[in-house]
Amino acid sequence: MSQQVDSSSYEVAIVGAGPIGIELAVALKRAGVPFVHFESRQIGQTVSWWAPQTRWFSSNERIAIAGVPLVTPDQNKSTREQYLAYLRQVVTQFDLPIRLYEPVTHITRRAEGGFEITSHPRTGATRTLAKQIVLCTGGTDRPRRLGIQGEELPHVSSYFHDPHTYFRQRLLIIGGRNSAVETALRCHHAGAKVILSYRQKSLPEKSIKYWLMPEIAGLIKSGAIDAHFETVPTKIEPGTVTLQKLRDGQPVRNFHVPCDFVLKQIGYEQDHALLKLAGIELGGPDHAPCYDAATMETNQKGVYVAGTAIGGTQTSYKVFVENCHDHVTKIVAAITGRVSADVVFTSEALIEALPES
Ligand SMILES: Cc1cc2nc3c(=O)[nH]c(=O)nc-3n(C[C@H](O)[C@H](O)[C@H](O)COP(=O)(O)OP(=O)(O)OC[C@H]3O[C@@H](n4cnc5c(N)ncnc54)[C@H](O)[C@@H]3O)c2cc1C
Repeated sequence: MSQQVDSSSYEVAIVGAGPIGIELAVALKRAGVPFVHFESRQIGQTVSWWAPQTRWFSSNERIAIAGVPLVTPDQNKSTREQYLAYLRQVVTQFDLPIRLYEPVTHITRRAEGGFEITSHPRTGATRTLAKQIVLCTGGTDRPRRLGIQGEELPHVSSYFHDPHTYFRQRLLIIGGRNSAVETALRCHHAGAKVILSYRQKSLPEKSIKYWLMPEIAGLIKSGAIDAHFETVPTKIEPGTVTLQKLRDGQPVRNFHVPCDFVLKQIGYEQDHALLKLAGIELGGPDHAPCYDAATMETNQKGVYVAGTAIGGTQTSYKVFVENCHDHVTKIVAAITGRVSADVVFTSEALIEALPES
């Protein structure tokens, strides 16, 4: 394969164009810092695979970026579609030069200073030089696996795309947190026979959108949704799944649940490959990158992390878009050595600036 060289000299390379990568790009542009920006797929890739019309839990002010208001026609929380349109609008408004469908696969520190970045646009490998790197690569690169027989069968998926698929079908949803509950309700309303398998004794109310809880509880109580608590799947076959009943975490018996489709809603994992290649130390049970909270710089000088990438594989979600905006401010300050009014524009800063009502 041909190897191309980008001969420009960049101060910063941003990897990842989710909300936080885009917010950082706007901040660097405003600060006059030359940067190059890579995205392995399309902007907002993580949001793009949510099911149609999924709404953010976070309110609009908290997921707005770069000081650009996120306004929805019904004043409701933004949907997937509205937010993707909003990201396109921000990228267009600031004319951000994002290199789309160009995954970064290698980062090498150069003896003479800075980094060599290998990326893969459709035309072949490209080499780009930048003095500093910011990884805004998120934390949900691939679905968690059950590690059981039958997981690869064609009627089994980890991505919920469209409730219509499950009309008049028996759908077993594995999981019990917010995504599983939302999927269960939407598919139930689309005419699916929904069955839930969850390893805990009951649904974790605190991690479920508050407006979904009464409805799912009512549907389970009435038997309209068949919930098997304290169960784990052990084998998937066409037409049936074997569930293992647990008591106090210990297996007590197996039983079969007939179903046409299986949706695993058990979370996602971070791909640590690039972080490791960059020499970043990972720590804790979530294998989260180690960084200096004041600057977002990792143990590797000149390599920063921002956005949900800092959380590793989050076992319980604590890092969201809404508490990542300050990463941008800190990184721009660390890179430019100045905190100007221009870069302090996060929505949180805007909210604080509003007069109290
Ligand atoms: C159903 C659902 C609902 C959610 N609701 C909320 C919510 O209400 N509030 C909230 O804050 N969060 C929510 N989240 C999580 C939300 O998706 C993340 O908080 C948000 O996307 C994180 O933004 P980010 O910019 O940090 O990372 P991401 O949006 O994950 O962006 C990372 C980007 O990096 C790119 N990338 C990765 N590796 C490379 C590479 N090697 N080279 C180039 N590019 C690369 C990816 O393609 C991706 O576009 C939800 C998630 C799901 C699944």
